[in-house]
Amino acid sequence: MMIDDRTVIQKPVLLCDSCNNVLVDENGVVQEDCKWTDWGLVCSKHKGFDKGFTVFEEFKKGQKISKKHKLFAPMVIASLH
Ligand SMILES: [Zn+2]
Repeated sequence: MMIDDRTVIQKPVLLCDSCNNVLVDENGVVQEDCKWTDWGLVCSKHKGFDKGFTVFEEFKKGQKISKKHKLFAPMVIASLH
């Protein structure tokens, strides 16, 4: 018998995947200029991400992102026993 054990990790705020800066607060307000790439969400100041990565969206400080945005979707980790 297999039990599907799921761990759901909610993302109340969004962090930079490179330096862990808070980029978007719990209300969806952007705290720092940042960009969402196929590598992850990173501060715009990390220059290396202009090359070799696809940028899906760029966000400016003060902009509001809907909490329904894909970036806020909870992470689901499934482990099978
Ligand atoms: Zn960063």
